[in-house]
Amino acid sequence: MTKFEALGLEPSLLNAIADLGFESPSEVQEKAIPVLLEDETDLVALAQTGTGKTAAFGFPLIQKIESESRTTQGLILSPTRELCLQITNELQLYAKYVKGLNVVAIYGGASITEQAKQIKRGAQIVVATPGRMKDMIGRGIIDISKIDYCVLDEADEMLNMGFYEDIQDILSNTPREKSTWLFSATMPKEVAIIAKKFMHQPKEITVGAKNAGVDTVRHEYYVVSGRERYEALKRLADTNPDIFSVVFCRTKRDTQKVAEKLIEDGYSAGALHGDLSQNQRDLVMNAFRKKQIQLLIATDVAARGIDVDDVTHVINYQLPDEIETYTHRSGRTGRAGKSGISMVILTRSELRKVKAIEKIIKQEFIQKKIPTGMEICEIQLYHLASKIKDTKVNKEIDAYLPAIYDVLQGLDREELIKKMVAVEFSRFYNYYKNTRELNSPDGGQRAARDGGQNSDAFAGDGSVRYFINVGEKDGYDWMSLKDFLRDTLELEKDDIQRVDVKESFSFFNSDAAISGHILSTFTDFKVDGRFVNVEISKNPDSAPGRKHKDKGKRKKHDKGRKAHKDRSFSRKQGGKPGGRRSKKRDGFF
Ligand code: ADP
Ligand code: MG
Repeated sequence: MTKFEALGLEPSLLNAIADLGFESPSEVQEKAIPVLLEDETDLVALAQTGTGKTAAFGFPLIQKIESESRTTQGLILSPTRELCLQITNELQLYAKYVKGLNVVAIYGGASITEQAKQIKRGAQIVVATPGRMKDMIGRGIIDISKIDYCVLDEADEMLNMGFYEDIQDILSNTPREKSTWLFSATMPKEVAIIAKKFMHQPKEITVGAKNAGVDTVRHEYYVVSGRERYEALKRLADTNPDIFSVVFCRTKRDTQKVAEKLIEDGYSAGALHGDLSQNQRDLVMNAFRKKQIQLLIATDVAARGIDVDDVTHVINYQLPDEIETYTHRSGRTGRAGKSGISMVILTRSELRKVKAIEKIIKQEFIQKKIPTGMEICEIQLYHLASKIKDTKVNKEIDAYLPAIYDVLQGLDREELIKKMVAVEFSRFYNYYKNTRELNSPDGGQRAARDGGQNSDAFAGDGSVRYFINVGEKDGYDWMSLKDFLRDTLELEKDDIQRVDVKESFSFFNSDAAISGHILSTFTDFKVDGRFVNVEISKNPDSAPGRKHKDKGKRKKHDKGRKAHKDRSFSRKQGGKPGGRRSKKRDGFF
């Protein structure tokens, strides 16, 4: 008997668990599942992030729902759209062998009519954000008067986001005799109030110390001057070529700015914050989940609870205002038993905050030094060598090889290796050879005045970069997209450059002189009934490769247009295998 069976779960769920590859229940699951299955009880469960709370309420909920009835029986409230979708997806996987069970997500920023349709078809479980839920109740689209179970997930965050009244309103539409299950990573006063007000003698489960960090995470900090934050971030990324990271900034503005600069400097990055449209947030999250972008720059609210597998590093570009938030940040890595590193970039004056955080997470930080330029070059060099060794060779290259052999004729093995490696290595070497060390001892003082703001202008080469909302999934590759653009715009062969096709969107460059023509051509432009939309990208200089800052040369091409700021570009090295990268297109080496 597996440990999951011992919890009292049905075969249909055990089969799904086997498919998911879960071998044994996590602590919160082990404690919560039997209680929820056996009793009709209210429950408050406190467990760190990444400990499997979704399954802890998801499995009992699914088992208790009557899938033959189409009545809505379970309601899960969660703070953000992203979490809502994540929980819905997860529950659908859990319920894959349960016939007739529908789990529907309800959240703002998407068509309410479509969601209403799904509800009408019959949803036994509804996963909702409070705002949209209230809206739908108000319009009489949804009936939650017969629910048996209500789950408040990430209750602390819902309250942080000011959903108290919405939750109260929503619960007033539910029957008195139901079970309420509250899941939270932390137990601030407000959560205790909710528990008291809306629950009846809830059982309590606490896993680990309250508010403790996950012990699979190593915590490191790096002291730099405030002006050097950005440079330090780049070095941390360069030191870890396979990094897959969430980078936290304090404000939406910094989040946007750091992401833009990284993209401009040739990193594979994207921004996630509340000023982006839902559509933009979806694109970025999807790209991150698929590892098409390596660095997700996010605000605390936007990234709260996000469960993406295999995040290797959490980087605190700035420490959060509330030190308790640090737990939520570092919980994005070291998930599901894997190890992870949480790095903090800070100035000398912030050192005392580290002590305070150590008390909360009950773990010590390790102080580390930002690597020197030459250390980074060395790491990159070895990384490159092993990447070459592990490269799977695409058969299509064969046809070109004879010609390539001709070109490279006369080079012996050593020389060839040297040159090959140098092609990539020079870029790092040239960038870092004249840079100084970042761990300057006087850095702290300057930093405090500087406040960590880095307001360098971005470089510009004058060409305009566009975003277009079609990509690989619409059947385009860089050649066919270039043809499509040339034909549609009636341009010459070389008028469209640097076409970079991503899965669901793409970028291209063109001369500033014809920007009016391009934008007007794509105003209300449809292909097969679908709007094809072109906008100016915020990143005119997003070519792979790094450049030094060139103050004052920045060109603004985005006046009067809503710029797409959250797009990502593959990095010249380290990008997705098979991803198109401009340099590779020009020749195979
Ligand atoms: P929390 O809500 O506590 O932050 P999640 O429910 O999002 O955590 O789960 C974190 C990750 O752990 C998810 O990817 C989930 O699929 C995985 N997971 C959950 N339970 C188990 C388990 N028993 N064994 C292995 N992985 C699990
Ligand atoms: Mg969760």
